[in-house]
Amino acid sequence: MESTFNIKEHPHRRLNILTGEWVLVSPHRNKRPWQGKVEILPVNNRPAYDANCYLCPGNTRADGSVNPQYEKPFAFTNDFSALLPDVPEGNTNENNLLCAESEKGICRVICFSPRHDLTLPDLSVNEIVEVINLWQDEFELLKKHKWIKYIQIFENKGEIMGCSNPHPHGQIWSSSHIPVEIEKETKQQQLYFEQYHKSLLQDYLELELQLNERVVVNEKHFAALVPYWAVWPYETIVISKRQIKDISLFTEEDKQSLAATLKQLTQAYDKLFNTSFPYSAGIHQQPVNNGEHIEWHWHMHFYPPLLRSATVKKFMVGYEMLANAQRDITPEFAAERLRELV
Ligand SMILES: [Zn+2]
Ligand SMILES: [Zn+2]
Repeated sequence: MESTFNIKEHPHRRLNILTGEWVLVSPHRNKRPWQGKVEILPVNNRPAYDANCYLCPGNTRADGSVNPQYEKPFAFTNDFSALLPDVPEGNTNENNLLCAESEKGICRVICFSPRHDLTLPDLSVNEIVEVINLWQDEFELLKKHKWIKYIQIFENKGEIMGCSNPHPHGQIWSSSHIPVEIEKETKQQQLYFEQYHKSLLQDYLELELQLNERVVVNEKHFAALVPYWAVWPYETIVISKRQIKDISLFTEEDKQSLAATLKQLTQAYDKLFNTSFPYSAGIHQQPVNNGEHIEWHWHMHFYPPLLRSATVKKFMVGYEMLANAQRDITPEFAAERLRELV
């Protein structure tokens, strides 16, 4: 008997090829009435300079240090770092039941702009290139510590994401162990490379560009799309068109192309619900000081929590905490909405 399964109508699960995990998609629930939380939005009337902001140029931070009058993106070591560089090495293990090991690291803060009132989509392409230049410089500097095995570059944007300071900034946490998400993606990319002798994301991106169903931005060297396995309603992934293992290998042209991609993507996000769109975003790339990783392909994830307005967000609760991630609107619907706004 011929299958009547229709991916546009019927509940199904999709495989996240980067992690090996599944996501439940329930397209039939799209028209369900919403009776959830409605929040009152704070009005954005931030000044260009805020005397009380610890990230603004010339201001004093919690530990007493004074920010320079920086004009380009500026980095410093987090005054409240979650990871510290001088932790003694060691581990404990009781009957393989209580296991712990020491973790060392360095946490940096990256101010994207001296302007307190701007966000990434407000910056020009050249100003975003300056941010990428600083990411590159920081990556190179941190890599020099041979005990650092992974460098996580990320941005937490918006109060809804727990970001307390609206000054445009991101963070870099580097650690002496390879973090959980990177371990998963390394394993999946290795398996694919062993089988096909090609990068997993190279083949995936080629297929996506050919289908052109989930692509949001298509620049010369990078593309942004809603991944087939997206969990968050408007989740996207930015992938380099050729296999680049990490940010230190970007050329000047790559940086221009990535900046143009990020600007278009974050502008579309802001237009979607007419709000400064909150998200957690971050770069995934090969580990450092960890031998050769022929499988690794640079990419960047955007995980935004908003679901259907500036005030209605998706919660990862219940079934999702206990069993499996789930989504109602399809990745194809989300991609269509975003693409209209680019
Ligand atoms: Zn500020
Ligand atoms: Zn990733």
